[in-house]
Amino acid sequence: MKIEMKETLSKKILTEAKGYLNVGFTHSLNPYSGCAFSCRYCYVREMPIQRFKEIPWGEWLDIKTNAAENYRNEIIKLRRKNKPVNIFMSSATDPYQPIERKANITRAILAEMIENPPDFLQIQTRSPLITRDIDLIIRLKEKCEVLVSMTIETDREEIKQIFASYAPGIKIRLKALKEIHDAGIPTQASISPVLPFTPDFPKQLKGIVNHVWIDTLSIGDGSMGKRSERLGMPKVFEEHDLSKWYRKDIHVMVEKYFHKYFPSEMIRVSKKEAFPK
Ligand code: SF4
Repeated sequence: MKIEMKETLSKKILTEAKGYLNVGFTHSLNPYSGCAFSCRYCYVREMPIQRFKEIPWGEWLDIKTNAAENYRNEIIKLRRKNKPVNIFMSSATDPYQPIERKANITRAILAEMIENPPDFLQIQTRSPLITRDIDLIIRLKEKCEVLVSMTIETDREEIKQIFASYAPGIKIRLKALKEIHDAGIPTQASISPVLPFTPDFPKQLKGIVNHVWIDTLSIGDGSMGKRSERLGMPKVFEEHDLSKWYRKDIHVMVEKYFHKYFPSEMIRVSKKEAFPK
């Protein structure tokens, strides 16, 4: 897919967490606007940043070249006011876009965080490119709490192809998660949104995660399923004969199943008002 990319100077990089984002996190941080992974279920498609744009989601990307500098200025101000800083990176893009390999925006932010750490950083991605930055994350972990959360919505590649064909494959995400965990960095598998998986899915996550996060298209879209409905998700499930997986209580069933493999303290389930990604 052709992507229209441009470099931009953003006024701010930390966005105060509001509403459904405001669950333990004080800020979200998006090093890019737009997202090359273009997942079909992505709730950002239904947000003003995309709804008022003429170019389709997945076909544009703004590279925030001054992100690290903004971060430094903003955190210094927050610290002067003694404010806690718990960051979710990222809520409306993936911090490890393919262009990150060259642009190094996220890497520069991490380097800056080592100098001026937040209290907590959760890195949310579905890209194995994050392993490039293991060196910096290890150093950051000495300064603040860090969690690397890898989105792994399913263990079935053919299902991933239906919903997120431009996103990295599942096997390489699992491999990256293992590498990060082996490096001593706390990890989470974010089954978000839950997509149909094989009975062996929990076994594949064993030993490579500290937590499992379970979220669904009905809860995690920030509008209790309305955005997912507007994106036509029920129809996509139906077309592929997967409707039994599109039910409002699917998180309850998935949690129950994962409990056979993981103790309760390792499983986190998105509830109403919980953080969506
Ligand atoms: S990776 Fe995240 S932000 Fe990007 S399209 Fe997929 S769900 Fe949306």
